[in-house]
Amino acid sequence: MISGPSGVGKGTLRKALFGMITDLEYSISCTTRPSRKGEREGYDYRFVEPDLFRELKREGKFLEWAEVHGNLYGTLKKDVETSLALGKDIVLEIDVQGALQVKDIMPEAVLIFILPPSLGDLKDRLNRRGTEKGEDMRIRLDDARHEIELSARYDHSVVNDDLKTALESLKRIIGSYRQLEENQ
Ligand code: 5GP
Repeated sequence: MISGPSGVGKGTLRKALFGMITDLEYSISCTTRPSRKGEREGYDYRFVEPDLFRELKREGKFLEWAEVHGNLYGTLKKDVETSLALGKDIVLEIDVQGALQVKDIMPEAVLIFILPPSLGDLKDRLNRRGTEKGEDMRIRLDDARHEIELSARYDHSVVNDDLKTALESLKRIIGSYRQLEENQ
């Protein structure tokens, strides 16, 4: 699982990672948040209505779910179970609340937190991205402080100061677990 505050560059890092390690699966989350420009249904997210999300939740279809920045997000059990049954590694890019829920159920899951060089830097990045304004931006920065505190419970943290260096660290961490699996 890869977590980190909004704007830290998790998405960019994850996409670059998938370009380097091609046999990883990606868990496509369900969300009630509206799609952003350029996002594709079933590729970036499964964009669902709140009613459908609640129904999936009631039916116990989620491995984990959480309310993040005022929207609902969840990982379908089926996606994770299918990949693992096929012996594949699956990457979840999810928030801290969700990641800690999964860790409780599956202690073998690996938690990696992506940190910004500083909170000021994170604010600059969110401003540059420009997808959130005013109140939304404030919520995301407040949540970032809380998430960074909880990151102490993660197995690894990677500072995304330079993309190439952060990517190498991420690759090394994942590679070390795969090496362990091979040696078992
Ligand atoms: P965004 O709206 O910027 O795409 O994502 C907001 C936050 O929701 C990010 O921290 C992202 O990692 C998290 N997120 C995305 N999918 C899931 C999910 O399935 N479960 C949980 N708990 N968080 C998610």
